[in-house]
Amino acid sequence: MANLIFFGAPGAGKGTQAKMLAQELDLIHISTGDLLRIEVQNQTELGLIAKSYMEKGELVPDDVIISMVENIVKNATKGFILDGFPRTIPQAKALDEMLKKYNLKIDKVIFLDVPKDELVQRLLKRAQLEGRTDDQDPNVIENRINVYNEKTFPVLEFYQSLNKLVKINGVGEINEIYQAIKNAIN
Ligand code: ADP
Repeated sequence: MANLIFFGAPGAGKGTQAKMLAQELDLIHISTGDLLRIEVQNQTELGLIAKSYMEKGELVPDDVIISMVENIVKNATKGFILDGFPRTIPQAKALDEMLKKYNLKIDKVIFLDVPKDELVQRLLKRAQLEGRTDDQDPNVIENRINVYNEKTFPVLEFYQSLNKLVKINGVGEINEIYQAIKNAIN
């Protein structure tokens, strides 16, 4: 049973790759962004809170995200891929505690490395294809990348020090990147 984290900036391709790998290896794909978008769509209490942050490209408060993830992890009957979580140091620490509590561990953290110019291009293209509101506005994109650099990037060091980090070049053909990920986890 493998438990993985997919890490990278907005637009790095975490979702695309995580979906493919989860299907092939029969893992649960836990995308906090997708989960939040479902809450927003269903206009739940959590969704109403999350919406105001997501629209601006800010992070949703840690406690909200942490309990959302814990609800899935604690009932997991197979391995999982975390996609978009943890995104802050407090989230990484909370994940650590949570895993200890349920006697689980993270095997590898896959970091998809993509330069900023390419990220912006991809997000603007995705705006046209998928119509996500947070992809439409260049200012919101800019803010998401800044938030990533400030709050999320430091999480990499946390996993580097635990020797779990694998860096993958996230620029290229989707299938080539997928192969590189598979080689890294084997
Ligand atoms: P992307 O990686 O392209 O930014 P996501 O779908 O992963 O897209 O996330 C969309 C939005 O959802 C983020 O900008 C943020 O507001 C919120 N979000 C997702 N995951 C988290 C998280 N772990 N912590 C806080 N906010 C999150």
